[in-house]
Amino acid sequence: MIGRRESVSGAHFAFTDRWGGVSAAPYEELNLGGAVGDDPGAVRTNRELTAKSLGVDPARVVWMNQVHGADAVVVDEPWGDRPVPEVDAIVTARRGLALAVLTADCVPVLLADPVAKVAAAAHAGRPGLVAGVVPAAVRAMTGLGADPARIVVRTGPAVCGRCYEVPGTMRAEVAAVEPAAHAETSWGTPAVDVAAGVHAQLERLGVRDREQSPVCTLESADHFSYRRDRTTGRLAGYVWLD
Ligand SMILES: [Zn+2]
Repeated sequence: MIGRRESVSGAHFAFTDRWGGVSAAPYEELNLGGAVGDDPGAVRTNRELTAKSLGVDPARVVWMNQVHGADAVVVDEPWGDRPVPEVDAIVTARRGLALAVLTADCVPVLLADPVAKVAAAAHAGRPGLVAGVVPAAVRAMTGLGADPARIVVRTGPAVCGRCYEVPGTMRAEVAAVEPAAHAETSWGTPAVDVAAGVHAQLERLGVRDREQSPVCTLESADHFSYRRDRTTGRLAGYVWLD
């Protein structure tokens, strides 16, 4: 269920895998995405199961309506009856409020400054890398008092640069913005390494305490992969502060 979990000075980071939930194929088992065609009741149950296993109140988890953009929004409370905003990064200074990001190949980025008590979750696919969603999240965090030198970042399971094949023109467009994302598939064709690009952006911003998941979603049977399966579930990354 929880593929990886870590706590750093009162900041908590967790990434799910695909097992331990109640969804039926092709969303088996722990689909956490509400917009992929799965039974909404199963998704609700999966979200509750995951929150409980993390020790988080399911009603205090904030989700996004992710659109591959670069907008970041500060949040103090769950959305409640309000529409879930179309953003790809959420930032909070509210302790105990868990921020969640959904992915199935894109890079889930969890950030926290344990001293300033500011956290953020961001969704970085190829468009988000180019648009700068992760730098936008860091800017929003610094606006709440975070210091890049103290920000801890964990990126979760994502399609790797040896698997993410793209047309050569697309690789060139991405590499023009972020050279570190220039990659080649294991079979020798143009590719993009989104995680490498995200980490390069963070390095330039002075965010040094970073770790990258070694898991490639496309290669791992324990993770959802959109590129591999098309109709499939979504993994989630969670970050929150004591
Ligand atoms: Zn791979």
